[in-house]
Amino acid sequence: MTNGETQYDFSEFLNDKSDVLDHFIDKFTSCVVGYDDDDRAEIMVNQYKKIIDILNISFVEKDLINLFEELAEFKISLDIPYALVTNEIYGLKHILISKMANHSIDTNIIDFVSLFNKINNRVAKLYLLSYIENLLSVNSLRLSSIADLIEKNIITHYESHLLWLNELAKCIQEERTDNFPQLNSNLCAFGSWLVNDGKVLIQNNSKYKIIDHLHINLHLLAKKIFSHLKTDEYHVLITYLEKCEFISLSIGTELALIDNVLMNKRVTKDTLTGALNRNGLNNVFESQYELSLATNNPFILAMCDLDFFKNINDTYGHVAGDKMLESFVNVVKENIRNSDIIIRYGGEEFVILLPVINSKKGFEVLEAIRKNFENYTLKFDSHLLKATVSIGMIEIHPQHSYKQSFAEQYIAMADKQLYSAKENGRNRVEVHEYYNKSL
Ligand code: GH3
Ligand code: MG
Ligand code: MG
Repeated sequence: MTNGETQYDFSEFLNDKSDVLDHFIDKFTSCVVGYDDDDRAEIMVNQYKKIIDILNISFVEKDLINLFEELAEFKISLDIPYALVTNEIYGLKHILISKMANHSIDTNIIDFVSLFNKINNRVAKLYLLSYIENLLSVNSLRLSSIADLIEKNIITHYESHLLWLNELAKCIQEERTDNFPQLNSNLCAFGSWLVNDGKVLIQNNSKYKIIDHLHINLHLLAKKIFSHLKTDEYHVLITYLEKCEFISLSIGTELALIDNVLMNKRVTKDTLTGALNRNGLNNVFESQYELSLATNNPFILAMCDLDFFKNINDTYGHVAGDKMLESFVNVVKENIRNSDIIIRYGGEEFVILLPVINSKKGFEVLEAIRKNFENYTLKFDSHLLKATVSIGMIEIHPQHSYKQSFAEQYIAMADKQLYSAKENGRNRVEVHEYYNKSL
């Protein structure tokens, strides 16, 4: 049975082939919108037809498996997720089983189910190998982003776990259990750091628990991978490895945020407002940028400029203006996380960096800043002073950005939005057009 020579013939009950083809086309079109008018759609439909044709004649199992493997290779090249492909295979299996039941076919159901399990597993193997190849190349980009950091700080521990993940992926690729990466979560480089120096450094207890929990789970998954490695259950391995990558990125994200908190404490501040100094802007931007690439998270850059600020200086004097600048920074700090960054860019202009956030949430944060500042009243001598702020925002997404990029490039884009905010009446947040649609 294992040599692929088992003979099948479903022609007796496959008199109506159209619903089987419909099943394929249905799954295909619902998950791969946009290929309908493409050569690729035709290639895939032809492959489906070949599969249905073979079901209609007497065939040996390796021939059907080959057809599914060809289909899988093609789908991998189109980046169609594995989950959708298994869904299709199981759907087809159920259609065939119900047809067999309706026709009281006495084909050995166990053989039939095992045939489909084999197909699924062979497809899973192809997906697994392609996933690993991709993971190793993406991880090398992540590692090069970390290497480009001016100061690695605690992200260096994420780096060590990315290397661990690479080793794990290579063991799966080569189907070997020797020289396996450290399975004990207390003994790997990251784990030894986490329970000692890491615990001291990560003062926020709930953050510590999150990271510790993620890390323990990561090692549990690695143990499961270890025990499944020689069993040929590729569909199980692919699921575990995907989870491992996801958890690794989450750990990196948490460490990057903690690094920001520490950097906020360490870096010299503007003496008037307590915001970070402009002279560190390029370095700070660069590290947010590299961290966003290394952890696969978007971040927000916002340019803020107080409205009609000259009037405050002219009417109430420079000291009143200074107090208002200080108040603005306080309002901003009340609305952002400890890991977010505010930099004094110029006189009454500030850059805000919000890491690990999407444009919708980022916009909400900036709107809250705008509104709370509008509602704020500064008591100065016997005067009650009010002011507003205009903000231009862009989302910098690792997938959309270039490796070589500079703070100025993105600041210019945010500045353009700030200009629109001023043009459109001030006291408002304008978002880079591209993302405006997604809000
Ligand atoms: P707009 O809404 O177009 O931004 O109007 P604006 O008056 O805010 O714009 P403009 O750039 O003409 O004025 C900015 C003013 O900010 C000019 C300058 O006197 C004042 N300013 C810059 N730095 C400081 C500072 O450190 N303290 C005080 N009090 N004022 C400052
Ligand atoms: Mg200005
Ligand atoms: Mg201004």
